[in-house]
Amino acid sequence: MSSSVMTMLTGRCPRCHEGHIYTSVLGIKTQCESCGAVLMRDPGAWTGATAVAYMMGSGFAVCLILFMLATGRLMQEGSELIIAPTVVVFQLVSFRFVKGFWVGMLFDMGYVYPDEPPAPAIVPSPDAVAVDAESTEALPTVDIAADAGASTPPV
Ligand SMILES: [Zn+2]
Repeated sequence: MSSSVMTMLTGRCPRCHEGHIYTSVLGIKTQCESCGAVLMRDPGAWTGATAVAYMMGSGFAVCLILFMLATGRLMQEGSELIIAPTVVVFQLVSFRFVKGFWVGMLFDMGYVYPDEPPAPAIVPSPDAVAVDAESTEALPTVDIAADAGASTPPV
């Protein structure tokens, strides 16, 4: 089973399969408490999950309307009071699973991984600084004013 489906069904981290990914009904943790994988690296990463959930909700609404049309309930008074809340509830419930699926898909694409500790600062040795000072004196000089005048286009 792919890690996307596994994450969607279990609500566990796609990397270590131990840490829970949800903070609430719709909230996703920014980082797995078990392995340290960053689950929410970029807020824009959820745009795709939102679009998928919206398409699923729209498809569900169309199916519900067609079902009500086929059974003759669509034209009855108050049918919109059935359709709108049902679609909203479906959208909220499906968005949780779509987000879980999306985290698994991001893991499959290589975007869910723990952050590495920062690399140690590189301090140049005194010998390297001396070599740099010598090499800059040997660089050829360029006359900037002459170059600027030569590159100005004619009016
Ligand atoms: Zn984890």
